[in-house]
Amino acid sequence: MTRLTTQEISQFRNRLRARDLELREAIHASLVNNADKTYAEVAGRVLDLAEQSVADIISDGQILQMEKEVAEQADVVAALARLTDGTYGECVDCSDDIGIKRLEAYPTAKRCIRCQTHYESTHRGGGRDTTPSL
Ligand SMILES: [Zn+2]
Repeated sequence: MTRLTTQEISQFRNRLRARDLELREAIHASLVNNADKTYAEVAGRVLDLAEQSVADIISDGQILQMEKEVAEQADVVAALARLTDGTYGECVDCSDDIGIKRLEAYPTAKRCIRCQTHYESTHRGGGRDTTPSL
């Protein structure tokens, strides 16, 4: 069970909402600058680098940048959903507390440091978890 206070929860919610907006604007700006494509169209495709049509109109560096933004935005949205359903701060793998210090450093963290380290060692280069380990 998480032991976050109501105040901490609302702080995280405000932080995540602000980050969500920032990322949406950044992604939108990237799209406007690069191609006449809708957000949904490119956001869906940009995660699949095998899609040549996107690679053709956007440079690799821009794709990587946008892919990071899209992945982080998905993490932010998922974290907000966990805040709403009361599972925020709980490790998705072992259900232990993630810990307030780690959450403050990485508000989108969904694993405790132990499970995150394990995850990264078994998913090297894979997965789209943008949360670095502490
Ligand atoms: Zn864990």
